[in-house]
Amino acid sequence: MSYFSRMRDYNVQLQELATHDALTGVLNARAYYADCQQLIQLSQRSNQLFAVLFVDLDHFKNINDTHGHAAGDEVLRVVAQTLQQHVRRSDVLGRIGGEEFSIFLPDTDLEGALQLAENLRHSIESIDVVLADVHLKITASIGVAIKTYQHQTIKTIQQQADEAMYQAKKEGRNRVSYLQERSNPIG
Ligand code: GH3
Ligand code: MG
Ligand code: MG
Repeated sequence: MSYFSRMRDYNVQLQELATHDALTGVLNARAYYADCQQLIQLSQRSNQLFAVLFVDLDHFKNINDTHGHAAGDEVLRVVAQTLQQHVRRSDVLGRIGGEEFSIFLPDTDLEGALQLAENLRHSIESIDVVLADVHLKITASIGVAIKTYQHQTIKTIQQQADEAMYQAKKEGRNRVSYLQERSNPIG
């Protein structure tokens, strides 16, 4: 292999390491936000809607405390895989915190976003992680937000999705929430 092909491969690897989460393989927070902001700029030109889902695992600390950190890591990997399997190629999936994932959905309306969120919630609930004969129960609370004004930033829509996720926690977890009164979708 030539020096230049090795350098090229090395740069590809470096880029992968810099933008992806080592545990789950999905985008890390920085790369997720950067990709989203670019897509938002594109959507402004074409006047398209977009949505964000904020996925936070329920009582995840319990899994670590009861079964150990390695079990928690395995759950995070399986959840990331499940999310990846259910989103479109054009969607952006990132791990934005310890047990928090977010998905940016370009060209998606409220109905589509709520449908996918419910689908994901159900898929996570159906995951069967077995460790030493124990079946771990995994559920997630998911907040949904939709583009609400013309020049929205990733920060403001992410904040709305986060608030909706907290609402889902308050309502009892393992559910999808959307804050109607905070949002008045426009194209
Ligand atoms: P809630 O339903 O309110 O979201 O409760 P929770 O226990 O999920 O939330 P909390 O924020 O209290 O706990 C998150 C836990 O996630 C605590 C932290 O130790 C764990 N965590 C964060 N990153 C990792 C990781 O990379 N691996 C593992 N195994 N655990 C992690
Ligand atoms: Mg959390
Ligand atoms: Mg949590």
